[in-house]
Amino acid sequence: MSDIDLSKMLGWPGYRVYRFEINELAKSLRLWVRRKRGNLKLVCSGCGRRVHKIHEVYEREVRDLPCFQYRTTVVIELYRVHCPSCGIKTERVEPLPSKAPFSKRFEEEVGQACEGASARQSARRYGLKPGTVRAIDLRCLERWKAKRRMPALKQMGVDEIYLGSKAKFVTVVSNLKTGEPVWLGAGRKKETLDGFFQKELSVRQRAQIEAACMDMWKPFRVSVEQWAPQCRIIFDKFHVLQRVNVAIDEVRRAEFFRKGGGKRGLVKGKRWLLLTRWVNLTSSKRRELNSLFAINRRLMKAYLLKESLERLWSFQYEGAMLRYLERWFDQLRWQRLAPFQKVARMLREHLHGILNYCRTKVRMGVVEAVNANLKTLLRRGRGYKNLRYLLLKAQHMAATRTEIVVFRKAS
Ligand SMILES: [Zn+2]
Repeated sequence: MSDIDLSKMLGWPGYRVYRFEINELAKSLRLWVRRKRGNLKLVCSGCGRRVHKIHEVYEREVRDLPCFQYRTTVVIELYRVHCPSCGIKTERVEPLPSKAPFSKRFEEEVGQACEGASARQSARRYGLKPGTVRAIDLRCLERWKAKRRMPALKQMGVDEIYLGSKAKFVTVVSNLKTGEPVWLGAGRKKETLDGFFQKELSVRQRAQIEAACMDMWKPFRVSVEQWAPQCRIIFDKFHVLQRVNVAIDEVRRAEFFRKGGGKRGLVKGKRWLLLTRWVNLTSSKRRELNSLFAINRRLMKAYLLKESLERLWSFQYEGAMLRYLERWFDQLRWQRLAPFQKVARMLREHLHGILNYCRTKVRMGVVEAVNANLKTLLRRGRGYKNLRYLLLKAQHMAATRTEIVVFRKAS
């Protein structure tokens, strides 16, 4: 094989192979590469300006994509240049975007492998350390992000995710229209979210936000009210219903202890049944639930209250929504269901943010879907110490598979 053929196969524009070595035993191919004659356009890696003065010539070794069964190493001749504004700098070369000993296309391939597999698996496949693979993946994602225009943030979601006893809580801001996370911040205080508004958004961008969908967690609400006062706060349906589920579980436990002896068995182990929506139950499970209700009216009442509250978000008009909610409150009277009284109090206190759903329609379920995706990534990757990496990973996942991500969990 001639140098010319190898230059064609290498396919680095402006560069040619001038020497090569094939090691059959080690199954490795080594190519020495330098600029083609006439290719003398030098660019400073510091500022991106065209430069003319060469300081020195040096060699760099990078791993490139394999050639058949041969692991390929490219030894490239490079220049250190004299830049008028940066001083002595290395030149910028398109196929070598980072200082790491890998070519761009090799990194892109490893990055792609990381989409479907964990860093550990990809590391085994390429004979690299997991830490190296993660660093490559992060660089690929940063390059992807730099090329991308972020969609405007008009409707935002705010939620928190628990990362374990060490990292604790992380605040997650998402874009409800695109279904992707926009920002992650350590902690879940008002100051945490303040940091997002302050550092990530311009005054104009803050003024563009029309709605924020969130949990009833007060620090987030206070922060949004301060930084984006024009924005409507809408309490997320999923989080409201979560509180109702907590209430129904409290009723179940109270009933379990109230029922002495033999009847306990009937209430026991019914947690899942009571937390599942009627439409999602099979007919045998429905029968099971019905026989439970036959002996315990209080549990039945609690279950019906939960089921009927779901309908609240089907109303188009604020008046109708409010009337429905008032009727729901009425049903609670004389029921002696203390956990539900608590839910009712909470709903009354947050009435405005619940009715706001009729004024600005947001896609409920997006906040939860974003959260679920982050959890999937955390389970797969085990320990993202780097929040930036986790964010980019989740953004890439959402952007490349938007439909699955948003519609799977949306309700
Ligand atoms: Zn420069």
